[in-house]
Amino acid sequence: MPVRQPLLSVADALTRILAGVAPLPAQTVPLSEAHGRVLASPLKALRTQPPFAASAMDGYAVLHADLQGVGTVLNKVGEAAAGHAYIGSVGSGDCVRIFTGAPLPQGTDTVLIQEDAETDGGSGVTVSEVPDKGRYVRPAGLDFAEGDTLLEANRVLSAADVSLAAAMDHAALPVRRKPIVALISTGDELVPPGTPRRADQIVTSNNFGVAALVEEAGGFALDLGIAADTHAALADAFDRAENADIVITLGGASVGDHDLVQDALTARGVGLGFWKLAMRPGKPVMFGTGTTTGNETANEGQPKRYLGLPGNPVSSLVCTHIFVLPLLRALLGQPAATVLQDAVLAVDVPQNDQREEYMRASLELRDGALHITPFARQDSSILSGMAKADCLMVRPAHSPPMRAGDPCKIVPLRG
Ligand code: AMP
Ligand code: MG
Repeated sequence: MPVRQPLLSVADALTRILAGVAPLPAQTVPLSEAHGRVLASPLKALRTQPPFAASAMDGYAVLHADLQGVGTVLNKVGEAAAGHAYIGSVGSGDCVRIFTGAPLPQGTDTVLIQEDAETDGGSGVTVSEVPDKGRYVRPAGLDFAEGDTLLEANRVLSAADVSLAAAMDHAALPVRRKPIVALISTGDELVPPGTPRRADQIVTSNNFGVAALVEEAGGFALDLGIAADTHAALADAFDRAENADIVITLGGASVGDHDLVQDALTARGVGLGFWKLAMRPGKPVMFGTGTTTGNETANEGQPKRYLGLPGNPVSSLVCTHIFVLPLLRALLGQPAATVLQDAVLAVDVPQNDQREEYMRASLELRDGALHITPFARQDSSILSGMAKADCLMVRPAHSPPMRAGDPCKIVPLRG
């Protein structure tokens, strides 16, 4: 009698997938391409900002000690604008017309805003409100000083971060190389969207969603198209995936007569594990590592990683969330684990069997808590349900029946 293999848990599968993964090496990119990339090393300011004491308002640069109360008349000796410093001298009782961003002239320490001054049309400026000493002056280094470390390594660069890096005088940044993820759809029934097809064919959809998830996570998706259910077609696709860090096949993962991925990978010498996972959706998954070919240096000797995902559209997307995104995060030097959020069930759900379940569900914020309603139809072919879902509700294996109001855990699907 054949021995029935126990199902592998999702956690154990992830541990195997993430074993030995190290962050990819750095590359330098122009600042204009740095948004969303992962900073590879800490970034120090190459300059001080502002580099000089600067006016924060339009008005008159004055020496506070000269202000003898309302009615003091000062003598305007010049003008300072942004990019045009006043380099003359300022004597006792003098002031300088100044505009926002201009360096404060030597001999002054305060800005009298124009709303608090009256001019006589000539050089006389009368004080109508006395400012505090130092008012409306931004001291040198208010924002940061040269040598300050302002951005830490492994940070995903935000819009504000790239502005800050520019202000720090960096024209290019060291970022982690994007993991290259090759996608191979397999199946004789598949044709690209918008192309003629026979009555027994369907449109390939998985690759588009998986590519989008890969790119969102900071990877580079290399879609290698559709491989027919033949060894030659798969071998050719694997050849074209030569430079990839991760090769993902979509479909052909079961053990049917037309599921050839396992054989095709074994034939290439990929040390492969074929797993029946305790997971729904996504039971058949393959994982293996091969030698690096052609990408040794850029990959720092890490092996190419192969993942065979099931062809059902929902399964391939859920498996990408649960297995591929953590792998990408690890390659990018980010914490790999998927962060589960706390939520509350809005409806009853029956007990679960031995497979950890990722139920497509809607989410509603009520009374300060996220209320989750799993969809009635959970078949792994129902892509419209996946598109409609706000989150995946995670039901552990063997979980007992749950009631409306019970706490639960979710994987959010939308930012
Ligand atoms: P397989 O894993 O090849 O047994 O495929 C399982 C189911 O998913 C079958 O109904 C396939 O037609 C379907 N399928 C496989 N690959 C894709 C794809 N790229 N896009 C949409 N459906 C697919
Ligand atoms: Mg197939």
